[in-house]
Amino acid sequence: MNARVGAATDVGAVRTSNEDSHFTGERVFVVADGMGGHAAGEVASAMAVSHLGTLDSRPDLGPEDIRQALITANDAIRDAAVGGRAGMGTTATGLVSVTFAGSPHWVVFNVGDSRVYRFAEGALTMLTADHSEAAEMVAAGTLTEDQARNSPFRNVITRALGAYRAPEPDQWVCPPIPGERFLLCSDGLTGEVEDDEIASVLASTPNPAEAADTLVRRAVQAGGRDNVTVVVVDGPTPPPAP
Ligand code: CA
Repeated sequence: MNARVGAATDVGAVRTSNEDSHFTGERVFVVADGMGGHAAGEVASAMAVSHLGTLDSRPDLGPEDIRQALITANDAIRDAAVGGRAGMGTTATGLVSVTFAGSPHWVVFNVGDSRVYRFAEGALTMLTADHSEAAEMVAAGTLTEDQARNSPFRNVITRALGAYRAPEPDQWVCPPIPGERFLLCSDGLTGEVEDDEIASVLASTPNPAEAADTLVRRAVQAGGRDNVTVVVVDGPTPPPAP
């Protein structure tokens, strides 16, 4: 697949170090949001994207390869954390171009509360499900979506890489849609910028690098309370002629 891609990241307006990492290759695109503080979070997120990035040079990728890379990354981060970096971990979410049932497909994967969205036919759709206490309370019906936005449970991650147990990544296999673009982001974007505004930037900014820059800038201008990372990937198939 010949996707066009743009990426941007910023420490934000409050924090002193950027613990997010990202990777963009030919067929693998990843965002990771590290946790554990300085010299831990950025190490964990960098390890996650580097393990997943090795998949980029492999021609015949499937969902199982992605799961294996996440397990390997989890174990490496957990072992690195043993040397006194308690609480070191990272989210990992992304998009991989694979051949599935003989034709090109995307695999979307997620561990944690970073997100992948698809923007197609003017609509922004969240493809991943957050692994946070707030999201689980919404799923269980004990919290509304609106309440979840401002809940302290939003920041309690229920799955991450670097944990003692092997990770249970979510994976979705998606057939390509003409004209689609994907947005990968850390919660530093979605905590500051509403979905409507994200959709309007994606609709009005054809260049993916410019779209990523604009979204990161909007998040920092809106408060920038967290590190913010955005990757925009345009699918290889142009939109249908009007
Ligand atoms: Ca974050």
